[in-house]
Amino acid sequence: MSGNKSRVEAINQITNRQIKPFNTPKRLEDMWAKDVFTLSKMQECLPKEIFKSLKKTIQTGEPLDVSIADVVATAMRDWAISKKALYYAHVFYPLTNSTAEKHDGFVSVQGDGSVISEFAGKVLVKGEPDGSSFPNGGIRSTFEARGYTAWDVTSPAYVMETDNGVTLCIPTVFVSWTGEALDKKTPLLRSNAAMNKAARKVLKLLGHTNIAPVNSSCGAEQEYFLVDSNFAHNRPDLLLAGRTLFGKPPAKGQEFDDHYFGAIPERVQVFMQDVEESMYRLGIPAKTRHNEVAPGQFELAPFFEAANVATDHQQLTMTILRKMAKKHGFTCLLHEKPFAGINGSGKHVNWSVGNATQGNLLDPGDTPHANAQFLIFCGAVIRGVHKYGPLLRAVVATSSNDHRLGANEAPPAIISVYLGSQLEDVFEQIRNGEVKGSKAAQTMNIGVDTLPEFPKDPGDRNRTSPFAFTGNRFEFRAVGSGQSVAGPLVAMNTILAESLDWIAGELETELAKGTELNTAIQKILQEIMEKHGNVVFGGNGYSSEWHQMAVEERGLANLPTTADALPVLKEKYIEELFEKMGVLSPVELQSRYEVYAEQYLLSIEVEAKLVISMAKTTIYPAAIKYLSNLTSTITSLKGIGIEVDKTTIKKVADLADSLITEVHKLSDALSKHEFESTEAHLQYYAKIIRSLMDQVRKYADALEEEIADELWALPTYQEMLFIK
Ligand code: ADP
Ligand code: MG
Repeated sequence: MSGNKSRVEAINQITNRQIKPFNTPKRLEDMWAKDVFTLSKMQECLPKEIFKSLKKTIQTGEPLDVSIADVVATAMRDWAISKKALYYAHVFYPLTNSTAEKHDGFVSVQGDGSVISEFAGKVLVKGEPDGSSFPNGGIRSTFEARGYTAWDVTSPAYVMETDNGVTLCIPTVFVSWTGEALDKKTPLLRSNAAMNKAARKVLKLLGHTNIAPVNSSCGAEQEYFLVDSNFAHNRPDLLLAGRTLFGKPPAKGQEFDDHYFGAIPERVQVFMQDVEESMYRLGIPAKTRHNEVAPGQFELAPFFEAANVATDHQQLTMTILRKMAKKHGFTCLLHEKPFAGINGSGKHVNWSVGNATQGNLLDPGDTPHANAQFLIFCGAVIRGVHKYGPLLRAVVATSSNDHRLGANEAPPAIISVYLGSQLEDVFEQIRNGEVKGSKAAQTMNIGVDTLPEFPKDPGDRNRTSPFAFTGNRFEFRAVGSGQSVAGPLVAMNTILAESLDWIAGELETELAKGTELNTAIQKILQEIMEKHGNVVFGGNGYSSEWHQMAVEERGLANLPTTADALPVLKEKYIEELFEKMGVLSPVELQSRYEVYAEQYLLSIEVEAKLVISMAKTTIYPAAIKYLSNLTSTITSLKGIGIEVDKTTIKKVADLADSLITEVHKLSDALSKHEFESTEAHLQYYAKIIRSLMDQVRKYADALEEEIADELWALPTYQEMLFIK
C-alpha cells in the first residue's frame, strides 16, 4: 500500500502479527471462581460458629462481628498464600469511574531476622489510604487527609494474578475520617438498604409475614471497541482522550448492517476467550458475547447478580478488558463515542428488585392486571422515574456520554418509561379507573411447518427508550460504556425507595380508614397514573416530534448536555430525596456535584489542548508540505510551458488557513479562567469550547480529504475500524 511511512509500517506489523492460538478449551467447573474466596471455601476453613456468623452478615447485611475478624483474616491469608499472594490490597471505588487499590505486603520481619506472613483482623477490616489524593469535592482538605477503607463483607475477596505477581484483593468502602462517603460503593450499599426497608414495609402491608431481605440486581451489558495498538499508539487523541478528535468518515461505515451479530473475527475471539477465562476464575458469570453494530465494536454481558457484587464485577470486567486487550495487541476503547459518525458504546443496566421469599418483585406473571404486588412495584418505578427523571439524566452525565445521548443511536436525553403494549394497556386501564384484563400473550407462527410455534413476548422491544421494561426488569439504556454502574443503581434504588415509602404511607392511611386492601391499591395506582403517567411513552424516542411533545405537552425535562444535567444535583428536591432516604448527606451530594463538574471540565480541557496540538504539529504541517510539493510541481511544469488546474492548491491553502484561524480562536477561548459560577463554567465549555473544537475538526477532516495520503501521518478511520 502506498501511504505514509509510519502508517504503512503499522499495517505491515499487523498483517504479519502472529495470532495467539486458541487456548485448549477448559471445563467451566475447573475455572469457576478459582481465584475467589467463596462462601464454600470459607466454610471449609472456618470454625462452624464463625462461618455461621459471617454468612449471616453476608446474607442479611447485619453488621460484622469484629471479634471474628482475626480468625477470618488468618483463613483468608492462608488461602491467598496458597495462591502465591505476597500482597493484599484494599480495593475501593473513588468518584472517578475507576478502581483504586492500596497494596501492602504480608511480610513481617521477626526479632531473630526471620520472616512470617502476617494479616491481622484489624487490617482486613480497615485500611487507611490517603483520603485527600482522590477527588472528594472539598470534603477533605490535604491537611486533614485521613480516609478509611472498610471491608464490604457482602462482596467476596479474590486474588488477582498479573505478570507482576499475585495480590489478595478485598473490596472495601472508602470514607473520610468524619464518616462521609468518598466513594461509589458506600451510597450503593445505603441505597439498597433504603430500598429494602421501604420494600419490606410495602410487602408487609400487602399481607406477607415471611419477608426475606430485598436486594436489587444488576446485569450490565458492556459495549466496547477494539483497535489494533499499532494504530492507537499513533493517535495521541486515542491515547490521552480515549476517542478520535479528528478523522474523516470511511467510504464504508456501518450502513450495510453487516457487522451486528456477524462472525466474530478469529483474533477477537481468542481475545474474548481469554477475557472470559479471567472472568470465570473471578466468579464473574460472563454469558453473552457478540459483534455490535459498528465495525470493530463488540458486546459482553454477564448473567445478572446482586447489584453490589455486579458493580464490583463490572469494574473488574472493564479492567480485564483493558489489560487483556493489551496482551493481544489491541487497545480496548470504553469511551462512549470513539469515532464520529459511527455508533457509540453504552452500557445497558438491567435492574430488578426481589428476595428469597417473594421472588422477583418486577415479574408481572401471565396476568399482570391481577398481580397487585407487581403493579405496586412497577407503579412505584413509574412514579420515581417521573418525579426524578432529571436525576436519572444527571447520573449518566459525562462529557463523553453527551456525544451519544440524543444522537440517532442512543436514547434521547429526555427520560421516559417504555412499558410494552400489554403493560401500557393495563396501566392505561388503571388510569381510567377500570381494570378489565391483560391482553393475552400470543403465539408466533413462523410459517414453516417444521418449526414449532413459540410464545411471543407480550411486549415488543423499543430500542429508542432510555428506561424500558423488558419482561421482568427495567433496562436503563442511557448509561455510558465507560461509566461505573454504581451511580445509576444508586439513583434507581433511591427513587424506588422513596416511591415505595410514599406508597406504604398512603396504604397505611387508607387501611386505617377501613378501606379494603384492593380498593386502596387501586386508588393509589390510579393516583400514580394520573400524576405520573405522562412519563410513559411507547413511541419512537428518536423522533423530533417526541422531543417537542415531551417538553411542551408532557412537561418532561430535556437536558441535552452535562452542563444542563449536573446542576440537577444541586436542586433542593434532590437533596431532600437523598437525605430522607439516608443515601447521601447534603455535603456528600454537594461534593459529588463538585467532583463531576470538575471531571467534565478537565476532560474537555484535555481534548481541547489535544485538538490544538494535533492541528498545529501534525495536520497543519502536512497541509503546508503538500502545498509546497504542489507549488514546486506547478512551477516546474510552468517552466516547460504547461499550465495546470489550481483549484486543489487554492482549496488546500484556504482550508489550512481556516484551520489555523480556528486553532487560535480555540486557544484564546481556553485562556479564559474567571467564571462567575461552576454552572457558567460548565456552560462555557459545553457551548463555546466544544463548538470551537468542532470547527477545527471540520477543517482538519476536509484537509484529510485533499492531502496526499503519504503525507497523512494519523491512522485513518478506515484503517482503525477495518484492519484487525
Ligand atoms: P439484550 O441485549 O436482549 O438486552 P442481554 O442478554 O444482552 O439482553 O442482556 C440482558 C441482561 O439482563 C443480562 O445481563 C441478564 O442477566 C440481565 N437480566 C436478566 N434478568 C434480570 C433481572 N431480573 N434483573 C436484572 N438483570 C437481569
Ligand atoms: Mg444486549
